[in-house]
Amino acid sequence: MSEVFDWKQAPKADFAVIGDPVGHSLSPRMHQAWLDAAGIDKRYVAIRIWSEELEEGVARLKELGYIGLNATLPHKERLADFLPQLDGFAQRAGAVNTVDLRTMWGCNTDAPGFLATLDEFELAPGARIHLLGAGGSARAIALALSATGFRIRIWNRTRERAAEMAESIGIEAEIVDMPDFADCAVAVNCTAGASPVELPICWDAAPKQLVAYDLMYGRDTPFLEQAKREGRATRDGLGMLVEQGALAMEMWLGEPVDRSVMLAAVEQQRG
Ligand code: NDP
Repeated sequence: MSEVFDWKQAPKADFAVIGDPVGHSLSPRMHQAWLDAAGIDKRYVAIRIWSEELEEGVARLKELGYIGLNATLPHKERLADFLPQLDGFAQRAGAVNTVDLRTMWGCNTDAPGFLATLDEFELAPGARIHLLGAGGSARAIALALSATGFRIRIWNRTRERAAEMAESIGIEAEIVDMPDFADCAVAVNCTAGASPVELPICWDAAPKQLVAYDLMYGRDTPFLEQAKREGRATRDGLGMLVEQGALAMEMWLGEPVDRSVMLAAVEQQRG
């Protein structure tokens, strides 16, 4: 758990992860470990901003001289709405997870961060990937997967939101009423609630080689626990956390980041 500051009492620092809630985030521990190891005298903190005060909170952090922000739930989509400049991918995905406050520019490192973690699975071109959820992270991941040539199936608690997501980001996707892992290589849990979400999954149709991937990190979710009981391979979100964070820091500082330092700092938190 990180120490959390309310935005109105934001301390002197250089970088922050913003969200509500945000105390679960390992970003401060991960980034600070690398900054310290690299001998860079900068501070990374966790700041709580309520949804209705997001614009005001971001403006305040800029005023205080913060350089960059990472965003976690529920802010990724709202940031895409009001930041004056976005990179092309973030604009199309409608989701921003990284902000450069010097230029008020938003981009999305979740997508390349997630794709980098898929390399180890050596998926066949055009393999089918099942997304559970249609929030900010699912939008970016769906667009990145589609652009890379994967086939996509999406289940979301609110079906219309999944359909709206596919339409607004302009991808072809199969929208299902219930999770259906038949013919899927990977199932990615992109849902999030106040506590880990119980999902209505029937594992019978899931191929034996299916990888169950949960974006959450730091604890075993019901999804990963079920997958283990069903004998499927599992991955949590730590690898993606490190990759998306390293890409953001490289953008802010313009120098390469040692992922192994970041990973070592957060790995001990694995559930
Ligand atoms: P959002 O708040 O944008 O989306 C939440 C999603 O969860 C929606 O699809 C919502 O469905 C669904 N949901 C919420 N409650 C329930 C429930 N009780 N039952 C079923 N579905 C539910 O979250 P994000 O996309 O920003 O984040 C999702 C998760 O991914 C978080 O845990 C986050 O920490 C993690 N994450 C990890 C990263 C990493 O680097 N490892 C990077 C990015 C995200 P509905 O539309 O019906 O409301």
